Amino acid sequence: MNIFRTTFFACTVLAFCHSIDAIAQAPKSSAAQAAPAQAWMDSSLDPDTRADLMIHEMTLDEKIQLVHGDGWGVLRKGERVAPGHNGGAGFVPGIPRLRLPDINLADSAVGVRMAALDSRYATLLPSVIGMSASWDPDAAFLYGSVIGRELRDMGFNMSIGGGVDLIREPRNGRNFEYSSEDPILSGTMVGQLARGVQSNHIMGDIKHYVMNDQETGRNTLNAQLDQRALRETDLLAFQIAIGLAHPAGVMCAYNRVNGDYACENDFTLNQVLKRDWGFKGFVLSDWEGTHSTVKAALAGLDMEQPGIQYFGDGLKQAVLKGDVPQARLDDMVHRIVRSMFASGVIDQPPVKSVVDPFRGRDDAQKIEEEGIVLLQNAGGVLPLSAGKIRSIAVIGGHSDVGVLSGGGSAQVDAPGGNALDAQPGGAIWGKAVYFPSSPLRYIREQAAPGATISYDAGTDPAEAAKAAASAQVAVVFVTQWMSEGQDSATLSLPDRQDTLVAAVAAANPNTIVVLENGGPVNMPWAKDVKGIVESWYPGIGGGQAIANVLFGRVNPSGKLPVTFAATEADLPHPHVTGLTETTGNNGADGGGRRNQARDFPVDYNVEGMAVGYRWFQEKGKQPLFPFGFGLSYTHFAYSNLKVDADAKSVTFDLRNTGALAGDEVAEVYVTLPASAGEPFRKLAAWKRVSLAAGAKETVTIPIDPLYLSTFSTADDAWSRPAGDFLIEAGGSSAELPLRQSVRLASR
Ligand code: BGC
Repeated sequence: MNIFRTTFFACTVLAFCHSIDAIAQAPKSSAAQAAPAQAWMDSSLDPDTRADLMIHEMTLDEKIQLVHGDGWGVLRKGERVAPGHNGGAGFVPGIPRLRLPDINLADSAVGVRMAALDSRYATLLPSVIGMSASWDPDAAFLYGSVIGRELRDMGFNMSIGGGVDLIREPRNGRNFEYSSEDPILSGTMVGQLARGVQSNHIMGDIKHYVMNDQETGRNTLNAQLDQRALRETDLLAFQIAIGLAHPAGVMCAYNRVNGDYACENDFTLNQVLKRDWGFKGFVLSDWEGTHSTVKAALAGLDMEQPGIQYFGDGLKQAVLKGDVPQARLDDMVHRIVRSMFASGVIDQPPVKSVVDPFRGRDDAQKIEEEGIVLLQNAGGVLPLSAGKIRSIAVIGGHSDVGVLSGGGSAQVDAPGGNALDAQPGGAIWGKAVYFPSSPLRYIREQAAPGATISYDAGTDPAEAAKAAASAQVAVVFVTQWMSEGQDSATLSLPDRQDTLVAAVAAANPNTIVVLENGGPVNMPWAKDVKGIVESWYPGIGGGQAIANVLFGRVNPSGKLPVTFAATEADLPHPHVTGLTETTGNNGADGGGRRNQARDFPVDYNVEGMAVGYRWFQEKGKQPLFPFGFGLSYTHFAYSNLKVDADAKSVTFDLRNTGALAGDEVAEVYVTLPASAGEPFRKLAAWKRVSLAAGAKETVTIPIDPLYLSTFSTADDAWSRPAGDFLIEAGGSSAELPLRQSVRLASR
């Protein structure tokens, strides 16, 4: 039942006429006049009808109140904190007389932020990139459900997270909040994450729409990418995630996209998100990412955050003057209120409860155990055999106290404070926070009683080498702290850790490196060490998960969601655009709006559609470790590929040929006919399969027809080209033993 819905044509100001799903204003329909008081509280009605019924009763001021935040609140010292504000990043006061609750938004990319306020607790999950390395949509759903559950317990009703920007720039400071370099993997994993959040009757969010692919100059840079490539890469990731989760919110990014700011971009907001994808939720700006009133409102922005600079009185006056049609304001409000009904935050509001830290930790550990990637295992140095190893030198990475976490608005507060440097209060912006899950402790627990497990901080390579020389095995922990607001100038590990690893490797032939990092790094020592374990930022169960993999209690099964380049020279952008020695990392405008004058293009047309592994294949460059790669303590054999008539699915046999049970992520890639102009294979589907030692399974994986299609800007539509499609399957983008060519008609 859609009592007031109509179509609003915003043709007067905009260059393109397009319809916006909107609510008609007066005259009141007879149905509404006859409706009983607060009829919108009838939960048998659909969310749109309920929203319409409520909005019909709202005054202009009440509508304006809903389309902007209440200020910086707890984020900035000295700012007003409104009554009802729950201590998160954002707050929108509700309308008690209409029984519309406040919206309390909390940053929660990898767990709920700012738990230290009011002595709360929040689970630190592994980084999103680490979760994505599991390639397990169920793990992604679980991840989101931990966040949703804890938000609920803390009394929040909206999550801010769901980063799905593609990893185009491997030195981007926020890659740990993002999923992968592939649109289908990213869209699927982050979509499932947002579904998990919303399964707790919490409004979910997907961000940063779109192309916030580096932090340097993020408030002003102009990301340039032609429309076809944009549709087939960065936008596709959002399209998939939004299609899966139907999130309440989509946060528009700070940067510009092909000229216009992302929060006043008619193309990305009105035309693509709302018209083409039929997004029913609301667009909220990144914090101070709004740049205008009329332009932003007409381009599709529905809520300014965190304050009132443009969508407060400015918007009210613009509506009164007719510069922004009343119907457009009603559309903004409708989107917000219908999302509140649809998610359940009105019918099933959160009830403050004690967060269950044990359940959260178990979930975090399980996800981490699926996402750890074994990159190298020369001579079968891993798993360590507790029965045989008498001495281990554990070195570096503060592994005696805990595991590293990522910074910025994704920072979760550590229980008991920063394990490295406990201070009262929450995390300090710009300071690396360690969580109390010490890998050393769990290594000691799993080693044989009586074995010597030494620890060296790794600050002096010569001392570390001495410790390594006297042990059977050396395990070196290396870290790379990354954060919102800054990129890394290079792919190299900071603080001379490469020198440390080289020194240890020279002293001990059984050296294993464990990485705790935000994204890809260089490993000049890779050939000199036997084992390499990628643990990302491992989360609150990280120390135990790492030890479980080292000792073989868990058989590693993660696969890389990003390419690790051998050298920066092989990247499409050998340097981070705009990151100069003088701007340094601060050029990223971390947390504030410095360097407003720096408006520079970031030309993503250099690689266009050839993001990540596609670039490496197209240019014939060998990465250090390819996308989709990861070892196991067992082996898998692929055989017998069959592609069904219209390539709707592929079937093949997968056998565990080793002596241990294990999970294999089986990957399917497609290369389109030459006429498509995409000379590289693209991930099209995958499945995570568990197999007992020696077991075989016939695996069938459906392929979404969209992933065999290209986007035509001339037709403004997707279609499948006719011709020969090469379908390949295997365990990594660079090792695909099965291949079959199929001729398909256009569609
Ligand atoms: C970040 C967003 C975050 C917001 C609120 C911004 O600086 O880019 O991701 O949600 O702050 O903390």
